[in-house]
Amino acid sequence: AAAPMESGAGVGTPPCSPPSHPPAMEADDFQFVLCEGCRQESPDLKLLTCLHTLCLNCLSEKKPVGQCPVCQTAIPQASGIPDMDNLLYKNLQAKLSIYKKIRDDGGPSCSRCRKETATVWCSECEEFLCSKCFEDHQWFFKKRSHEARRVEELRAESAHRFLEDSRKSCNLFCSSPGHANQGHISSIYCPTCEKAMCCSCALLDSQHTSFRDIRAESRRRQEELSAMTRELKRNRSGFEAAYAELQDEAARLERAQREMRELIEQRVEQLVRWIRREQEELLGLVEARQEQGRQELARELRRVEGVLQRMEAGERLVEKMNLYGTEQEVMDMQPFIKDSLQELRRLQPAAAGERLQPGDLAECRARLQAL
Ligand SMILES: [Zn+2]
Ligand SMILES: [Zn+2]
Ligand SMILES: [Zn+2]
Ligand SMILES: [Zn+2]
Ligand SMILES: [Zn+2]
Ligand SMILES: [Zn+2]
Repeated sequence: AAAPMESGAGVGTPPCSPPSHPPAMEADDFQFVLCEGCRQESPDLKLLTCLHTLCLNCLSEKKPVGQCPVCQTAIPQASGIPDMDNLLYKNLQAKLSIYKKIRDDGGPSCSRCRKETATVWCSECEEFLCSKCFEDHQWFFKKRSHEARRVEELRAESAHRFLEDSRKSCNLFCSSPGHANQGHISSIYCPTCEKAMCCSCALLDSQHTSFRDIRAESRRRQEELSAMTRELKRNRSGFEAAYAELQDEAARLERAQREMRELIEQRVEQLVRWIRREQEELLGLVEARQEQGRQELARELRRVEGVLQRMEAGERLVEKMNLYGTEQEVMDMQPFIKDSLQELRRLQPAAAGERLQPGDLAECRARLQAL
């Protein structure tokens, strides 16, 4: 039904006709008919068991295949392509494109002769018709009852209203082989077979019982779905609470990890500072011990040297006295020298073990091991 558009303002449109001011196309209101993966129109919209709607392209291209690209629910079909078409959205896309043609500048051109500007839309033939072609349309007895509406009138309608109206004029055809083609309209529903059928099918087959009106059945099904969504709304609050809880939990986890990281860093810094202090203290201690050891050794050296010098002096004095001393000198000096030599004799060099260990580093070693 895609007729090429006439260029310009459209032949046959009176130039003086006042431009109607129909409501703006509520483009955003009808985003829902697009594929939920690529946000594009597509004639192959599939309905998944998760009730997301995706085009064939998205289902075969978005990796990983075999699951819903929106909510990751698995697709049971081995091919990864669901069996169910989203007829509703697919048909709405088609109806919206008709509506767009109606709203196009200059209006749609006739789907039959493709020359004139269309004046009428027949929703049952799904055709735009110019006045001339509409006359031909009316010539057919069967088509005379078709609900044809003036394009002018439709232009003034909102998209919402257009879709609503086209819903009313839509018929359900009999599913028996051949009947749909012959235009048999289903008006009867058999609850046993769960099938819609035309009057002749219902009358011809005695198996069908307790018929219902198809409109009543359709309404009942709609109401059943509405009741289920109302019930689900109650479940929803539970899931929303769980969602909020999980988010809290995630935030808590994040916070706890951050705090732990900070704690580790603080503690390590503390330890490093303490270790550095300990290092300085130990180096200071080594320095002090070294200094102390040096002084102790020097003192001991001086003491031993002093003893050796005294021994040398004693030996020299005794030797010289033997060589040159008079009796008088010996008598006078001998007791004094004897006392001194006796004192010298009492002196002993300190044994290796007794000597104070100069510069003892044992304390340093112990503290180093305790770190
Ligand atoms: Zn898509
Ligand atoms: Zn999904
Ligand atoms: Zn025509
Ligand atoms: Zn028609
Ligand atoms: Zn039938
Ligand atoms: Zn039946």
